[in-house]
Amino acid sequence: MIFKDLKACPFCGCEEYYERSRIKGYVFYRTRFDGEETDNTNMYDATTTISNGKVYCCNCERYLGNFITDTLGKSAEKQLIKMKEE
Ligand SMILES: [Zn+2]
Repeated sequence: MIFKDLKACPFCGCEEYYERSRIKGYVFYRTRFDGEETDNTNMYDATTTISNGKVYCCNCERYLGNFITDTLGKSAEKQLIKMKEE
């Protein structure tokens, strides 16, 4: 089985997952001397996101697999097989 076989989290049924990525670079956060709000819409422009493809369930936070290599986590695959047998 591959990651694309997942239609929801096999542990809790949640339909969303998240990827925890690393970023590198610099953040430029502008501040006014008088404390008023300043435009910081481009504060992350000097950063690069480093994706490893590992994703986790948004609800139960269990590891699900890797969408880049299209592989399932070992426990996620076991759970998916168990669900198909029931
Ligand atoms: Zn879950």
